[in-house]
Amino acid sequence: MKVVRKYWGYAVALVLLYGWFSATLGAGVLVLLSAATFFYALFQAPVWCCAETRGKNFCHNNASGILMGCHLREHRWQKFKMLARKSSWGRLFRRLCSGFHGVATSFSALGAMISAVAAVITLALGR
Ligand SMILES: [Zn+2]
Repeated sequence: MKVVRKYWGYAVALVLLYGWFSATLGAGVLVLLSAATFFYALFQAPVWCCAETRGKNFCHNNASGILMGCHLREHRWQKFKMLARKSSWGRLFRRLCSGFHGVATSFSALGAMISAVAAVITLALGR
């Protein structure tokens, strides 16, 4: 069950993908699935912490989601600070993408965001 709790977001992402290609799910459902995937990527997906440590390295501790740091409170703050500054987004993204989970999570977040926008537009036009 631990695996399910850790990776449920990817399962939702797959259902979402299927929903778009098969057109069997309503736009309202697609909005919900997109939102779930997005929040999973931000707060729950297993990724590296990626905060900066001394000596220009980055933290390889496990973290939950792109927005959250590892168990070190200092790292959490550091990541929030990085996200607040647009100029450091590229750096954070590159670090996240140096691990498999980071790549999967980053693209899930990006895809979910696009999917949510598209579903909302579909919903709006359908009325
Ligand atoms: Zn850390």
